[in-house]
Amino acid sequence: MKAVLLKAFGGVEHLDYVEDFPMPEIREDEVLIKVKATALNHLDIWVRKGALAIKPELPHILGSDVSGVVERVGNLVRNVKEGDEVIVSPGLSCGVCYECLSGRDNLCRYYDILGLKTKGGYAEYVKVPARNVIPKPKNLSFEESASYPLTFLTVWNALVRKGQIKPYSKVLIWAGSSGVGVAGIQIAKLMGAFVVATAGSEEKARRCKDLGADLVINHYQEDVPKRVREVFKEGVDVVMDHVGEQTFSKSIECLKKGGKLVFFGTTTGSNANIDIRYLFVREIELIGTYMGPSADLLKISELFERGLLKPVVDKVFHLSQAREAHEYLEASKHFGKVILKI
Ligand SMILES: [Zn+2]
Repeated sequence: MKAVLLKAFGGVEHLDYVEDFPMPEIREDEVLIKVKATALNHLDIWVRKGALAIKPELPHILGSDVSGVVERVGNLVRNVKEGDEVIVSPGLSCGVCYECLSGRDNLCRYYDILGLKTKGGYAEYVKVPARNVIPKPKNLSFEESASYPLTFLTVWNALVRKGQIKPYSKVLIWAGSSGVGVAGIQIAKLMGAFVVATAGSEEKARRCKDLGADLVINHYQEDVPKRVREVFKEGVDVVMDHVGEQTFSKSIECLKKGGKLVFFGTTTGSNANIDIRYLFVREIELIGTYMGPSADLLKISELFERGLLKPVVDKVFHLSQAREAHEYLEASKHFGKVILKI
């Protein structure tokens, strides 16, 4: 089958497009999917660089977000059949431990993400456990359907479950143009919150507003905490940070007393410098999140099908252009998701 193989950790030159990689073989409880589209995530870049504590065996196949058509199902599979149009829930877990059975599968000790240690969607075919396969929203194209699982699941967990945003919450979303940014703006808006987003250009700011942001701050030209405090004297209730080193302390400065910082990514580095006194005196909550319970993806898909959430696809590359797609994502030129079409 066609696939993009990661043969060594490092630059994009280690991504090799081949046409003769062996097809995956499914077990009785697994599903083989003919991949139609797969989305890029920053996770792909970290895995490619070997920058995470967890490293896959090489050669590896990246790709956490998959949409496609069911090609074959194992004997025990009941929930889908050949020919069904589906998406994949990217969180892989054991399914039988206390956390899994309690609906907190993202805390399973065996938790993995498709494309992290397990071979993912940069290929003609991918195999996944049947419980990870869910129907594709009928109103979305394959490219649009591949654009949301990982980011929207992550953001839903961060803002709705952990951040507990309410209609009267004021929420700050860093880098509103990113994959998680476009999810953050829409989910916070859907929950009725006042949404402040940051963006790096006028054009990106305009598009953040189109998605529902009430206020957009240029994070290159303005002092974000200062601007936030000009608008809300006390600060905001919740900040969603996925940028890391460059924004983490600023995020804390933006929060009002008792505010929550929900965070899950470190695009700019992982070291933060925090004055601990500032945190306890103001009763600031630091809440790390990692993906989210798979069940939420069913509800998120419903919201897409009802048109309450909208996919934001920036650019579609062909699978054979994975190197160019990685360079494009790393250059931060995108607004929304970068997709590979197979
Ligand atoms: Zn488990």
